[in-house]
Amino acid sequence: MDPIWLLLLLPIAAASGWLARGTSSISSRKRSKIPAVYLEGINYLANKQHDKAIEIFLKELEVDSDTIEIHLTLGNLYRRRGEIERASLIHKNLMERTDLTGEQKVQAIFELGYDFYTAGILDRAEKIFTQLTGDGKFEEQAYEVLRDIYEQEKEWDSCIRITNILNQISSTDYSSLLAQYYCEKAEEAIREGRYDQAEENTLQSMRADSNCVRAIIQFGRVKAIRGDHKAAISIWRTIEKKNPKFISETLDLVVESYKAIHKPEELTEFLRRTAESTLDPHLAIAYVDALEGQKKNEFAEDFLTDWIRQNSSLSCLLRLILLKLNSKDAERPTSDFQLIEKIIKRQFESVRSYKCQRCGYSVKTLHWQCPGCRDWNTLIPARMLPSARRTSGIDT
Ligand SMILES: [Zn+2]
Repeated sequence: MDPIWLLLLLPIAAASGWLARGTSSISSRKRSKIPAVYLEGINYLANKQHDKAIEIFLKELEVDSDTIEIHLTLGNLYRRRGEIERASLIHKNLMERTDLTGEQKVQAIFELGYDFYTAGILDRAEKIFTQLTGDGKFEEQAYEVLRDIYEQEKEWDSCIRITNILNQISSTDYSSLLAQYYCEKAEEAIREGRYDQAEENTLQSMRADSNCVRAIIQFGRVKAIRGDHKAAISIWRTIEKKNPKFISETLDLVVESYKAIHKPEELTEFLRRTAESTLDPHLAIAYVDALEGQKKNEFAEDFLTDWIRQNSSLSCLLRLILLKLNSKDAERPTSDFQLIEKIIKRQFESVRSYKCQRCGYSVKTLHWQCPGCRDWNTLIPARMLPSARRTSGIDT
């Protein structure tokens, strides 16, 4: 239903409000005028003459303590319809009136700020909400909008400043969000080769949220970039305890660092242990890669066959086929066999890998901020979702 039609409910709400307050304080002018104006305004709306409807509501429906809510609602409904210009016209009109109470004026300013924010006119929204941080009633909401504005503009220092304030004044815990903002700063520092700064930012992130996987991965990356692969490995291995479903996110990094320190057996042992503890097929395949590198193909085949029996993994089945095709003793593969490999590969590629726990958005690569709902830290590997197991019957 078009939200504008919610206005139809307002006369009823207003009437019940008047009755509740008693009739003695209400002038007969108001009692008779409001329904007539409504009927006329609603009539224009019914004929899709929105401009005329607005005109009549603004001109004829007097703004006073009885009708202020109706004007605000009208403005907000237009905003919800995406008609920001109309919404801001109503809110500006309210702001300019001299007969509003202080609280009503602040409410109108707040709504006008929201109009700009919704329209993406962020500099004007920022100005209004910065003013409103001084108002007790709107303080928290104003800081929350400012946080989002700075996030959209990637002004991470401002995000951190505002989030620290929110952590003090709000009952919501913003610590994990604060950790993500420090990670954003660390990522910038890594890109620009400022590794001391990056290390400091990852430590700040972990101080805000000791379980922040992104910060742990970044901290290890900085160590590895600087050649301290042993430290990097021991940092990444803490993810095994803190959030095992993200171990495979460090897989390539861990493999490279173990190679750099020439410890193939330790790598193989790490992969076996984590594959078995997490049942993550990516780790199982990495373990098989390591075994193949050590010419332990027969052992790798046995491991994969057992794994597929127990975990029904399509990607592991594909790896087993490739292992058999690459085997020294393998006969020339039949076209049927190659077709099966092709079909499984195609199927495997079509499976998305990460899903947002909040909005359900799916992507193939890990994002720390959901591209769908813009919430942070909500994407997890889809293979870890119980629903993915139930619907497909297979892991990827
Ligand atoms: Zn989402």
